[in-house]
Amino acid sequence: MTIASINPATNQTLQTFTPLSEDAALNAVAQAHDAYGKWRQTTFRERQKVLLTFAAKLRQQTDEFARLITLDMGKRISESRREIEYCAEIAEFYANGAETFLADQPMENVEANAYIHFEPIGALLGVMPWNFPFYQVTRFAAPNIMAGNTVMVKHASNVPQCAEAISQLFAQSELPEAVYTNLFISTETVESIISDSRVQGVSLTGSEKAGAAVAALAGKNLKRSVLELGGNDPFIVLEDADLEKTIELAVAGRIVNAGQSCVAAKRFILVEAVADAFIEGFKRAMSSLKLGDPLDDDTTLSPLSTEDAAVKLHKQVQSAIDAGATVLLGGDRPDCQGAFFNPTILTGVTPDSPTFDQELFGPVATIYVVKDEAAAIELANRSSYGLGGSVYTKDVERGRRVAEQIETGMVFLNQPTNSQAELPFGGIKNSGYGRELSHLGILEFVNKKLIHLG
Ligand code: NDP
Repeated sequence: MTIASINPATNQTLQTFTPLSEDAALNAVAQAHDAYGKWRQTTFRERQKVLLTFAAKLRQQTDEFARLITLDMGKRISESRREIEYCAEIAEFYANGAETFLADQPMENVEANAYIHFEPIGALLGVMPWNFPFYQVTRFAAPNIMAGNTVMVKHASNVPQCAEAISQLFAQSELPEAVYTNLFISTETVESIISDSRVQGVSLTGSEKAGAAVAALAGKNLKRSVLELGGNDPFIVLEDADLEKTIELAVAGRIVNAGQSCVAAKRFILVEAVADAFIEGFKRAMSSLKLGDPLDDDTTLSPLSTEDAAVKLHKQVQSAIDAGATVLLGGDRPDCQGAFFNPTILTGVTPDSPTFDQELFGPVATIYVVKDEAAAIELANRSSYGLGGSVYTKDVERGRRVAEQIETGMVFLNQPTNSQAELPFGGIKNSGYGRELSHLGILEFVNKKLIHLG
């Protein structure tokens, strides 16, 4: 396997890294386990100090870390900067909130004097993706470090500069050794780590395939797991939507991170009454996107994360076309160096097309026109995924009614699905299970211990 930073805007290799041997990885597990024995004894105040330092350093060095993200995986530099700021917000949220979230909880409506006491459980493994290389790690590490667990991270093999920088940043924030460990390991070594009795749980964000493989290992070894997998989020536009604003949000929701977000808006479901006007405005806005160097602030659409990702997306689009889809815009790659893909709009992707139920990880929107609200809900739910979704209407009551019928973990009204430190994030169906962020995120890997005093 190769662990390499390859700039997707140029396809130039910037740096390569040597994977750890299995013995070295298991030695890291031993250290994480030992570190847990001491870290679990620390006070919330001590943990808070480390995470607040971590957050402050992120803010001070935003430009430096943002540049690493952009070089490793091609994100537009302004989005990379925002990702770093957001990580600081998450670290601060848990640094300041953990003690309250994990305070003893008296049992109400029982006669006995009993309460729930929250305790850490041990060393954990995070298997993380490349699309938000700082955010995904922070969202896993911050709550668990505050809870008193220790964390090891196997990051995606195409973002090693970010992986190393995060690990150094924790060390510089005076986190004791082995409370956070970056593991440059292959997917095969993941199996040995999950099987090790000193590891108590695993959290994975990534594809269904990787999620199923890791969940099977966790199940076999009776370990807790959290999975945050792909999505095929519906973006439902009803007759009374504010069309101009909705079109703006549709473009932003589709091309966030060049379309490579699990909660990007992917299926645009329009009721007949607004379809023509929406399509006209959406096409105009999508065609005005400017592909280019992600380090240039004027670029509005960056390359995909790797050449392989662009090739895969092209195949998915082609197979939709072969199955009868119509290309309203794009559909192919520009004639230039780098992992670029043209902004694309497809219509006529029917349920029998292989692409219908696939996640299109790039700037490709699929449009569906339906008769009415009921048909929109029915189509939105015709997906094996269930992560996020959004509904556009001026009528809040109507929006709430529709939102409650969408089978996903999150639904937003008049804004595309997004992530905030204080809001729970996660899905149902093939989008995974468990919740991250918010007070719920810190409860995934803790022992909710009942103490019964009679
Ligand atoms: P993967 O799911 O393969 O990668 C995510 C992480 O899982 C990486 O660290 C990867 O390691 C690791 N991994 C992969 N296979 C295994 C395995 N069998 N056991 C243990 N760990 C494993 O995503 P890809 O990069 O291949 O992207 C493929 C598709 O997945 C995308 O097109 C998109 O649809 C979806 N995806 C969704 C994401 C989300 O945010 N929900 C994020 C990323 C991808 P390594 O890099 O070494 O292979």
